[in-house]
Amino acid sequence: MFTDTHAHLNRLDLEKHDNDIQKALQIAKDANVHRIMAIMCDFDEYDGIQQIISTQIDGLTLGMSVGIHPCQDTINQVTAEKLIELANRENVWAIGETGLDYYWSKDFINEQKSSFSYHIHASQTLKKPIVVHTREARYDTIDILTAEKAEHGIIHCFTEDYDTAKKALDLGFYISLSGIVTFKNATDLQDVAKKLPLDRILIETDSPYLAPVPKRGKPNEPAFVPYVAEFLANLYQLPLEQFANITNQNFDNLLNQYV
Ligand SMILES: [Zn+2]
Repeated sequence: MFTDTHAHLNRLDLEKHDNDIQKALQIAKDANVHRIMAIMCDFDEYDGIQQIISTQIDGLTLGMSVGIHPCQDTINQVTAEKLIELANRENVWAIGETGLDYYWSKDFINEQKSSFSYHIHASQTLKKPIVVHTREARYDTIDILTAEKAEHGIIHCFTEDYDTAKKALDLGFYISLSGIVTFKNATDLQDVAKKLPLDRILIETDSPYLAPVPKRGKPNEPAFVPYVAEFLANLYQLPLEQFANITNQNFDNLLNQYV
């Protein structure tokens, strides 16, 4: 069984599933994916994702995160109070995705930083982990997490160097690897992955983006998370089932860190 810890379920390309999210989820379940965390990026996605995660599929557990992605125009509307209000439900497992992205825009760095801090505060109040996105902003990301005493969360779709991973691990964070690690040219990231402690690794699709090999270039979906797991199991020279169990346990531990 596999957990997809990061999927944009409301953005999936459903064409091959007859435009039916239920079918996409059933196919994920049939691929042995038993748990998916749907990720919110903007306020207007909340209701749609709540609707999706209310879908009943036998043997599949669905939850969501609540947050505003650093590239959204609405980051200046973020307050910890608003996040707490939206995230104070049982099917909300985490806060995010939040973080810093200097690749897309360096115009709103202060707004990104404030929003990131508010997400951390909400995470600390609710004792729910934070889902962190970081792109071309590794130092500021670690600085803010450190300054805010963040210790509970995920660095998602990790593509940074080992030094950054180590700093995040020292804070208590989990490192989530996506399909990027399966790419042929991702040798640096594969070398970093080899050095990560097994009890801090998570797997994700970040679907509909970044489909893993052998689906690279196609629209990604939660049913593809086993490809990420397979690649990593090989990398760590572990049986697939054992590696999958470790990552499931890691996600359990993360969700239960303060329960
Ligand atoms: Zn994402």
